[in-house]
Amino acid sequence: MDRAVAQTPDYPALIDDSRTWSYRQLADAVESTASALQSLGVRPGDRMMLISENCTEMACLMLAASRLDAWVIVANPRLSPRELDQIRDHSGTRRMFFTTKVSAEAAAHAARLDATVKDVGPLAGIGMTALNEATEPEPVHADSTRQVAVLIYTSGTTGTPKGVMLTHGNLLFSAKGTALLRNMTSKDKVYVVLPMTHIVGVSLIVMTLLTGATARLVSKYDPAAFARHIAEEGITTVNGVPATYQRLLEYKQVAGLSKLDRGSLRLIAVAGAPLDLDLKTRVEAELGIPLLNAYGITETSPGISGVRLESPRTDQSVGAVMPGVESRIVGRDGKIITDGSVGELHVRGRNVMLGYYRAPDLTAKAIDADGWFLTGDLARLEGGALFIVGRSKEMIIRSGFNVYPAEVEAVLNSHDAVVQSAVVGRPVDGNEEVVAFVQLLNSSKVTPSELMAYVSPQLTSYKRPSQIIVLEALPATSTGKILKHKLAESIRNT
Ligand code: ATP
Repeated sequence: MDRAVAQTPDYPALIDDSRTWSYRQLADAVESTASALQSLGVRPGDRMMLISENCTEMACLMLAASRLDAWVIVANPRLSPRELDQIRDHSGTRRMFFTTKVSAEAAAHAARLDATVKDVGPLAGIGMTALNEATEPEPVHADSTRQVAVLIYTSGTTGTPKGVMLTHGNLLFSAKGTALLRNMTSKDKVYVVLPMTHIVGVSLIVMTLLTGATARLVSKYDPAAFARHIAEEGITTVNGVPATYQRLLEYKQVAGLSKLDRGSLRLIAVAGAPLDLDLKTRVEAELGIPLLNAYGITETSPGISGVRLESPRTDQSVGAVMPGVESRIVGRDGKIITDGSVGELHVRGRNVMLGYYRAPDLTAKAIDADGWFLTGDLARLEGGALFIVGRSKEMIIRSGFNVYPAEVEAVLNSHDAVVQSAVVGRPVDGNEEVVAFVQLLNSSKVTPSELMAYVSPQLTSYKRPSQIIVLEALPATSTGKILKHKLAESIRNT
């Protein structure tokens, strides 16, 4: 960012619904916010929690806290009171901050926690809780690249949330890799609609400021606004999750539009969850550019791999591993797999987190003695490209055969009436059954038995669901990732 402040001080750095900040204005705002935070008792090594939707205030508070060497815990306002309090207590947060003017949910949490609302430097309407005098700051690292910048609690799609410690070095390394992958230049206008409380949103901000480009921050995803922003605002790159594009296509259909206007878009990318091939094909046909699949994990800041614009793919590959990241596929017997078959993906590099906060045992399970991070994802390498087959924890073992939920979901999703599906295992007498949950188009009258008749000829018998359950909506995180453990729990003893 410093280079852009010096070279292009008047160039827009951040834009949200209410203001545009040039690089110079952003630098000034960060400076005065940092002094305001200091007078509010935020010390180096303190954990400071930020509950916000994407907005310039949020970016400024994050950057200001980093300037003070404080750790920022970014938390989604949609978290329940219980979840938020759990993170606050686990992290030993010194003070919580809320952007009450931007987010009604953040304002509601602020009111619940008796926060006072004040101006912080140039930022109006910031809620803050009383100082927690009982917390001790963590030591500050002499090497700034090893200093923790953000503490992100994972959304817990596989269980209890864990606090992932990511350093400045981690974030910079991943953002540089993504900038390279995307051929980013200062001319880019990056659409930041994925929450900045998630590692992808954080990384997009770092990448934008690193390359002297412009970030368009969007507080809440709305497909109609998305279509309009692309058509009218000169957005050049979008990074979404599959649901970002799925809902755009649904909007086009419901609104009766003949075509979506792609404006200045040069690149669309998707990450965070398995990409359905049918969705990929439809998005590409609509927008006329390839949808580039990328793969990452909170614990790896998030960059691991991505498909390049120069070499788009027609399959579900998540591309080649980023420069500087090592990878290996390991079988159940602990041996490295080299013949292209499926095993657990391990990665090593400067993108790997420092560890889980206050959880040394979990850290030791996740990162081995040689520094390999065990992703928990099943993958295969083919011709230098990585394919994610599923999560090892989600793999279903039925009568001794492996069933990868993603494969069954892909067949279900290819039915015209299915919006999305999620396949989980149900333990029955030492075995596992395959159970599918589906969300249908509102207009659809298709029944579970008709769906069963559709999928059966396309799947070997052990992969066929023993039950298909239709739900109005599938439980999901703020980034649209389906909470499979909730679905699995709902059928555990049925
Ligand atoms: P928790 O770790 O608590 O379960 P989470 O699922 O939200 O939380 P994230 O770091 O957000 O954790 O998600 C990372 C996971 O998302 C990966 O391990 C992988 O399973 C999946 N994933 C990410 N990108 C892709 C992709 N392009 N294709 C398939 N799966 C992906």
